[in-house]
Amino acid sequence: AAKDRGKHRTARFSPELDQVAAEDAGLGADLRRAVDAGELHMVYQPIVELPAGRTVAVEALVRWRHPLRGAVPPSVFIPVAERTGLIVPLGAWILRTACEQAVRLPAPLTVSVNVSARQLREPDFIASVRRILDETGVDVARLSVEVTETAVFDDELALASVRALRAMGLRIALDDFGTGHSSLGLLRICPVDVLKVDKSFVDEICADGPPAVITTALLQIARGLRLDAVAEGVETPDQAERLHALGYRYAQGYLFSRPLPAADLERLVADPVTV
Ligand code: C2E
Ligand code: MG
Ligand code: MG
Ligand code: MG
Repeated sequence: AAKDRGKHRTARFSPELDQVAAEDAGLGADLRRAVDAGELHMVYQPIVELPAGRTVAVEALVRWRHPLRGAVPPSVFIPVAERTGLIVPLGAWILRTACEQAVRLPAPLTVSVNVSARQLREPDFIASVRRILDETGVDVARLSVEVTETAVFDDELALASVRALRAMGLRIALDDFGTGHSSLGLLRICPVDVLKVDKSFVDEICADGPPAVITTALLQIARGLRLDAVAEGVETPDQAERLHALGYRYAQGYLFSRPLPAADLERLVADPVTV
C-alpha cells in the first residue's frame, strides 16, 4: 500500500527535477495500457470555408479519458508519449482510427492527422503508414498530415519521411506556423500544401500590431507559393470577419465548432455551421 501511495504521490509532489521522469513513469505506464483498455478516442474539428462556414475538412485530435485522472489533455500526454517512445504505437492507432473515419466521411471531406517529430524519425514509419493505408483502404487524396516546423527543422530523417508521405499522395500541412523556428527556408526544402497559421497570431488579428502584420504577410507567402492557408483558433465573429477581409479562405476554431465525436460528423456535413 505504501508503494502504491508512493507511486501516485511522486507524480504530483516530487521535486521539480524528478517531476518529468515521475510523470513519464506514471502516465507512461497508464498510457501503455490505454489503447487496449479503450480509454482513447478521436474527436474531429471542422476546418471551414470563410465566410459561409461550409466544412471542407476535419482535423483528427486524440482524447484520453483516464479512469482515475479523468480527461488528460494531449498537451500533457503527447509529450510524455514522445519522450517514452509510446507515440509510435499510439500514433499508429491514431492514424488507423482517423483513416477508418475518413473512409466513412462523404467526399470531398478530408481528414488531417497530426504526426509528431518522433514518428517522422522512426525508421519503420513510412512502412507502417503504407500498411495502414492498405488495410483501411482509404483514398490518400482524403488524407493530410500535420507536422510542425520544429519537427522538420534541421532534421533530414524527418524531412525524408515528409517527402515520402507527399510522394505517396498525402497532403502536408505545416502546423502552428509562425511559432517554431519559422525558417522561411523550410518552405524551400520541405514539401508543403497547407500553412496553418497559429492561434497566437489569430488571437490578436483585430489589433493593429505585429501579429496582424504577420498574419497578413503569411497569407501573401501562402498565395505566392500556391499553398492553402488555414487560420487556427478562431473564437470570435470579429476575427472571422477580419480574416475573411484579409483574404483568408479557411479557418478553424471554437467559433465554428469544437472538436466533435465521430458520430456527430455526418450531421455537421449535412447541416453546415453558419456564423
Ligand atoms: P494542434 O494540432 O495545433 O491542434 C489544435 C488545438 O487547438 C486543439 O487542441 C484544438 O482543440 C484547439 N483549438 C481549436 N480551436 C480552438 C479555439 O478556438 N480556441 C482554443 N482555445 N483552442 C482551440 P488539443 O486537441 O488539446 O490538442 C493540442 C495539441 O496536441 C495539438 O495542437 C497537437 O499538437 C497535439 N495533438 C492533439 N491530438 C494529437 C494527435 O492525434 N497526434 C499528435 N501527434 N498530436 C496531437
Ligand atoms: Mg494540428
Ligand atoms: Mg495547429
Ligand atoms: Mg496551434
